Amino acid sequence: MVKFFISPYTLIPNAPLNALTGAAVREGVLLKVTWPDGLTGYADLHPWPELGDAPLKDHLADLKKGRVSAIVEQSIWLARRDAKLRSEKLNMFFEGVPIKNNFTIIRSQILQPGMIDEICNEGFSSVKLKVGSDLVNEADFLNHLAAANLRIRLDFNAVSSWQVFEKFISNLSPSVRALIDYVEDPFPFDEKSWSEAQTLVKIAVDNQMRKVPWKYLKKPPFDVLVVKPARTDVDVAVAYCKKWNLKMTITSSMDHPVGASHAAGLAMELKKEHGEMILEAGCLTHRLYHMDIFSAELTTQGPYLLRVKGTGVGFDKLLEGLEWQAL
Ligand code: MG
Repeated sequence: MVKFFISPYTLIPNAPLNALTGAAVREGVLLKVTWPDGLTGYADLHPWPELGDAPLKDHLADLKKGRVSAIVEQSIWLARRDAKLRSEKLNMFFEGVPIKNNFTIIRSQILQPGMIDEICNEGFSSVKLKVGSDLVNEADFLNHLAAANLRIRLDFNAVSSWQVFEKFISNLSPSVRALIDYVEDPFPFDEKSWSEAQTLVKIAVDNQMRKVPWKYLKKPPFDVLVVKPARTDVDVAVAYCKKWNLKMTITSSMDHPVGASHAAGLAMELKKEHGEMILEAGCLTHRLYHMDIFSAELTTQGPYLLRVKGTGVGFDKLLEGLEWQAL
C-alpha cells in the first residue's frame, strides 16, 4: 500500500507576492510517500486558493479518502521521481544540463535603488515582473530594465482587460517592446482577444491554461507554455509544445524550497532532452520569502541553481529530521 505522511510548514513573504494575494504567511505541507517496492520520495504540496485552488485541508482530506486532486497527483509524481533518484543515490541536479533562471521581481521591490545593477552584475539576462497593480510605475520601471538591456517577461495573472493591456503595451517605447520575451496571462483567457493580443507581443499561458480548449484549437493564441511541474502534467505539456511548435518555461509555484528544487531539477532535465524548446526557467523564487533552514541549503550562482546537497531533490538530513504525521 502507498503511504502518505505530511509535515506542515509556513513561508513568510518579504512583500506582497502578486496582484491577487497579500503578504500573508503562506501554508503548505511537505509530502513523504512510501511505496510497496520500498522506495521513499518527497515533494511539496502548496495550493494557491487565491488562484482558484481548493484549500490545503481539502486536498489532504480527499487524499485521506483515496481521492487525488490534480495538484496532489503532481506532488506524488514528483515524489516518485525523487524516490527513484534517491534509491540510486543520484542527485537530481547532476542529471540535466545547467539552465539559467529569470530574476523575479514583485511590485513593491521595483523602487529599490541599485537593484538593476545588481541583477546585471550577478549575470541574469532576463527579469520577470509581476504587473497590473500600478501600471504607470511599472511602465517606468521597464524603461530602466531596457536601459540595462535585460530581457523582459511580464505577468498580469489575468487581472487586466484587453483595453488596459492594449493601451499599456502600445504606450511602451519600441526599445522596451523589443526586449519583451512574452506577456503571461494578460487577461482572462478568451481565444479571440488573446489572438489579437498576440499581434502586439508574444503571449504566454500559465494559470489560464485550464481554460484552453485544446481539442478544438486551430492555432493556439499564445507562443509559450509556462509550466509549473507542481501543477501541470509535464508530459502532456511537452506533447502540446511539440504539436503546436510552442516554447516552454518551467517555473516553481512560488512554493517551498523542496518544490522549487523539484521544478529546477526538472527544468534541467527537460533542457537536456528538448534543447531550444525549453526557455530560461523561473525557479529562483525562494528569495521572495524569509530565509529558512531549507532555502539556506540552496547553492546558487547568479541565475543558476547549482545543486542541493544530498540525493534526489536533496535536503536529505533536513527531511529525515522533520516530524512526519501519517495521513
Ligand atoms: Mg504566472
